[in-house]
Amino acid sequence: MNISTSQALFEKAQNFIPGGVNSPVRAFRAVGGSPVFIKSAKGPYVYDEDDNEYIELINSWGPMILGHGHELIQKAVSDAIQHSFSFGAPTRREVEIAELITSMVPSIEKVRMVNSGTEATMSAIRVARGFTGRDKIIKFEGCYHGHGDSFLIAAGSGAVTFGTPDSPGVTKGVANDTLTAPYNDLDAVQKLVDANKGQIAALILEPVVGNMGCVLPAEGFLEGLRRICDEEGIVFIFDEVMTGFRLSKGGAQERFGIKPDLTTLGKIIGGGMPVGAYGGKAEIMNWVSPLGPVYQAGTLSGNPIAMAAGLTMLSYLNEHPEVYSQLELSGHKLVNGFKNSMKKLGLDYTINSIGSMYTLFFTDQQVTDFPSAKSSNLPLFGKYFHAMLDRGIYMGPSQFESMFLSTALEDSHIERIIQANEDSLKEVIG
Ligand code: PMP
Repeated sequence: MNISTSQALFEKAQNFIPGGVNSPVRAFRAVGGSPVFIKSAKGPYVYDEDDNEYIELINSWGPMILGHGHELIQKAVSDAIQHSFSFGAPTRREVEIAELITSMVPSIEKVRMVNSGTEATMSAIRVARGFTGRDKIIKFEGCYHGHGDSFLIAAGSGAVTFGTPDSPGVTKGVANDTLTAPYNDLDAVQKLVDANKGQIAALILEPVVGNMGCVLPAEGFLEGLRRICDEEGIVFIFDEVMTGFRLSKGGAQERFGIKPDLTTLGKIIGGGMPVGAYGGKAEIMNWVSPLGPVYQAGTLSGNPIAMAAGLTMLSYLNEHPEVYSQLELSGHKLVNGFKNSMKKLGLDYTINSIGSMYTLFFTDQQVTDFPSAKSSNLPLFGKYFHAMLDRGIYMGPSQFESMFLSTALEDSHIERIIQANEDSLKEVIG
């Protein structure tokens, strides 16, 4: 495959941008080789600067759940830009999207819009700290909650890929206030809580993890956390930046029937524009400025173009429940196809999946937490990634990522992905 234009761009980029990219995992460090530079995308396809076509399994890391360049969102954005790009003042659509979010996400009574998932999680723990008057938080090893200082402790996603889960620049003071527990280990959480009585403001997790690859909560895990948080007055936060509007229209909390106190959102909520949000119980959200004393603000928050895209996306999802049945079916077909291929090839790698999220882990251990995710053969994943890319399948360039399917995938695409997977496995196993 000719990617010479991408290679030339990457070489030039490295002169002016740290590592040549504006977000680390894009540099392909975990899989080797040169990243492809994307020029355009439509429906299930992305096209690179050398005009190679790929079937999308990442979809901008989640937001493009309806596929690329959906006509309704395109129209909403082009209509919105006729009225200027930003006002820094309240607008009608902010009210409409807030009302819609509170109707779609079971636990959200009030919501504040921000510009990224990182801002959403940073703000949510600030509010939890203000509300409880406590400093410490609990997070889980391998969960990624954006690049806020408090979360770069045993973080997943790019931070794992680069082997620097504890970033320089995070002060000891901040790090000391973040306690970590292994995912799916209720006893460990109970011990942390017992050892820090009355000091824990919040417990945050990905209710389904995407950032150590796709890892599901064990039976009773979320319920157990809810109980511990209730007993100890800890604000229970679901980071649904990935799972929100994806695992169902009300996210993981609707799918599992568990109500957190606060929820963080991102990705799909902006329809591809830079948007995040945090929301939850009115009693807690009333602590946010200007109603309450916890300060949080944004020049571009609730940006009219971003709100037009987000509102159109969420309205569509709200009105089209068949989106979710289609995504479930696509996920099933794909994962079953992968399992059949592995059987045929005598391989027993682990594939974790739920709805339209999945990860094929290059390990035969069950993957339920960070250590088991890390038992994967990373060099082998790198080879597999490139074998898939050569066959026109665009995946996340790291073992520690979940893939995200879109409704633009038709059966013919799913069959092509299954075939490419089988051929790639054959190639890399040798
Ligand atoms: N939380 C989760 C669960 C995420 O997956 C991410 C990003 N992948 C974030 C927070 C941070 O979001 P953003 O990249 O928009 O800052």
